[in-house]
Amino acid sequence: MGNYILAADQGTTSSRAILIDRQGRMVAVAQKEFPQYYPQNGWVEHNANEIWGSQYDVLKEVIEKSGVDPKEIEAIGITNQRETAILWDAKTGEPVCPAIVWQCRRTAGICEELKRQSKTEMIREKTGLVIDAYFSGTKVKWMLDHIQDGYGRAKRGEILFGTVDSWLIYKLSGGKVHATDVTNASRTMLFNIHTLQWDDELLEMLGLPKEILPEVVMSSGYIATADASLLGAEIPIMGCAGDQHAALFGQTCFRKGEAKNTYGTGCFLLMNTGATACNSNNGLVTTIAWGIDGKVTYALEGSIFIGGAVIQWLRDELKVLDSAAQSEELALQVPDTGGIVFVPAFTGLGAPYWDMYARGTLLGADRGTNKCHIVRASLEAIAQQSADVLHAMESDSGERLERLLVDGGASANNFLMQFQADILGTTVQRPQCVETTALGAAYLAGLASGMWKSMDEISRMHVVETEFRSEKDAYWRENQRAIWKHAVETVQFWAKK
Ligand code: ADP
Repeated sequence: MGNYILAADQGTTSSRAILIDRQGRMVAVAQKEFPQYYPQNGWVEHNANEIWGSQYDVLKEVIEKSGVDPKEIEAIGITNQRETAILWDAKTGEPVCPAIVWQCRRTAGICEELKRQSKTEMIREKTGLVIDAYFSGTKVKWMLDHIQDGYGRAKRGEILFGTVDSWLIYKLSGGKVHATDVTNASRTMLFNIHTLQWDDELLEMLGLPKEILPEVVMSSGYIATADASLLGAEIPIMGCAGDQHAALFGQTCFRKGEAKNTYGTGCFLLMNTGATACNSNNGLVTTIAWGIDGKVTYALEGSIFIGGAVIQWLRDELKVLDSAAQSEELALQVPDTGGIVFVPAFTGLGAPYWDMYARGTLLGADRGTNKCHIVRASLEAIAQQSADVLHAMESDSGERLERLLVDGGASANNFLMQFQADILGTTVQRPQCVETTALGAAYLAGLASGMWKSMDEISRMHVVETEFRSEKDAYWRENQRAIWKHAVETVQFWAKK
C-alpha cells in the first residue's frame, strides 16, 4: 500500500502532474506548456509526441520534486483535454499524423453533410451529443481520408485511434494497453451512452473500421500498469476521466442534482443526473459523468463561450483593467450597473440560445456610465449566462439546484461569486483546493486502489473554503433575470438584421 496518488492532468495548452496524499492534499505540482499549431484558419493541431513528452516530463519532475519514492505511489489517475483525436502506428507507437484538437473546425463540412442526411436525431439519441466538429468521430474520418491507405491500414489493425487518455495509457503501459474510459468514449460521437458499446451504425455512417477503437473501461478501476522503466516503479493506472467529468467528481458532486461550474476562459457547467441519461430540450449535451463498478452516472453539460474571457477583453482590448483580479475592486466601487446590461456574445450565444450571429452589445448607457459600471455589468453577465444554463439544466432534469460548486480562475472573484449566489437564489461553494480536475482523477484512482474506501469518505475530505449565500429576495432576482433576458432578446433582434 502506497501513500500517494499521482494525477496526470493533460490540458489543451499544458501538461500538469500533481501528487496527492491520503488526506487529499496536494504534495507537489509540475507543469509544462507544449506547442499549438494553427496550419490554417480554424484548424488546431497538436503533436501527439509533444503531448506525451510534456506529460512524461512533468510526471517525472513531480516525483523528483516531492522526494517521494515511486514505490510509495499507489496509483495513477489520468484526466485530459477531451475530444482531441490521435492516430498512431500499432507496431511502432508513432503518431501517423498530427492530432486534431477539439477546437479544430476542419470537419464542419462533414458535420453539415450528416445534418443534411438527417442524422441529428439518431446521433442525439445514441450519443447524447449534437452534431459538431468538436467531437472526435469526424476528426478520425478526416485523418483516415488524408493518410496513405488509411482505411486499409486501419482495417488490418495497423493503426490505432485514441483520445488523449487512450494515448497516455498506451504510452505509459509501454504499448501494451489500448483503452479509454466511458467519459472520454462519450465524447467521440461513436459511442452509445445507453448500451455502453461502440455503435455499429455510427461507425458505418462515418465508414470507420472497428479495429482502430480502444477497449472501453470504467473511470475507476484497474486499467493498465505504467512500465517500471518510465517512473521508477510499476504503478497501476486506476482512474481516468475527461477534464470536465473529473472536475465534477473532484467537486464531489456525487448526488443527483448537484452541479459544478468552472469559470475559465469560457464556463463549463455539469449537473449530475444520476442513473438517468436526461434528454435536453434546451440545447444541452447529455454525457457520461463517470463509470464505477460497472454502473454509469450521467450528466447534463452546457458551456458558455465567453466567461472570464470578457475580463481579459476589458484588460487587453479596452484597457480599463490592469489585471483580471482588479475587476472585483472596480465592480464594488458602484452600487449597481447604473442601468446598463452588457451581453458579451463575442462569438455568438451557446446554450440555451444557440445563436451564432449574436455579437457583444452594451445596452442602456448614458452620460453617467463609467468603467466601473461596465466592469460590473461584465461580471454580472458571466453569472447571468451561468444562470441561463443552470435553469435549462433544472428544467431538463426536473432537479432543483441546492448548491453550486465552483472552480476555475474567475471563481477567485468574490463579487462574481456573491452575485452568482444572489441571481440563482442558491448557495455557491468554493473549495479550498481549486485543482478539482486533478483531484477528481486522483479520487477515481484512489477509490479503485482502496486508498479511500467510499465516495462518502472522499466527500468528507472535500473542504469548502468560502460559501456565498444569496442575500437577495425572489422579487429582486426575478426583476434582474427579466432585464437580462430582455437584453439577450434585443441582442438577438439586432443580429437578425
Ligand atoms: P483557462 O483554464 O480557460 O485558461 P483559468 O481557469 O486559468 O482559465 O481562468 C482564467 C480566466 O479567468 C481568464 O479569462 C481571466 O480573465 C479570468 N480571471 C482570472 N482571475 C479573475 C478574477 N479575479 N476576476 C475575474 N476574472 C478572472
